[in-house]
Amino acid sequence: MIVELARGMWTTLRALFFEKKVTVQYPEEKKPVTARFRGRHVLNRYENGLEKCIGCSLCAAACPSDAIFVESSENTDEKRFSPGERYASTYEINMLRCIYCGFCEDACPTEAITLGDNYELSFTDRRDAIYTKEMLIVPVPQGGEPTPQVTEPGVYTRSVPEMKDPVD
Ligand code: SF4
Ligand code: SF4
Repeated sequence: MIVELARGMWTTLRALFFEKKVTVQYPEEKKPVTARFRGRHVLNRYENGLEKCIGCSLCAAACPSDAIFVESSENTDEKRFSPGERYASTYEINMLRCIYCGFCEDACPTEAITLGDNYELSFTDRRDAIYTKEMLIVPVPQGGEPTPQVTEPGVYTRSVPEMKDPVD
């Protein structure tokens, strides 16, 4: 019996003093996620602050769990949110429905919606699981302007920018 006790104590002491600690002090300390991790979505902006989302609803159509709701409105040069004719006046994702498949990201023609590295999602009410455009959109980049912007006529006629093919 003494032998078993000593063996048990040795196992504990060895782990305590000689083995590399694997415990992460979450939430103060966070482990980095993998490069292709799919976490909470973000709605992106261009460098000048204009929103990349053009309210086309392709993401909503591609979503297998019907988690996305988009309502679009018309842009004008006096009140412009995004390049082109339309912008998303309402954009919502029901995070309780989302299965983080990334189909919305793949379907988006402007790379407006991307799945980021944030996995800290918790709700105590079903309504809190609906993330609105205001919650999803990234801050205005440095040097950019908030939306809506007043823009020069004839400059932002194209909804989808020229883009290179993705590499991965
Ligand atoms: S990640 Fe998949 S399930 Fe979630 S909103 Fe996008 S398409 Fe829908
Ligand atoms: S996020 Fe992309 S696919 Fe969805 S409405 Fe906006 S532009 Fe269209």
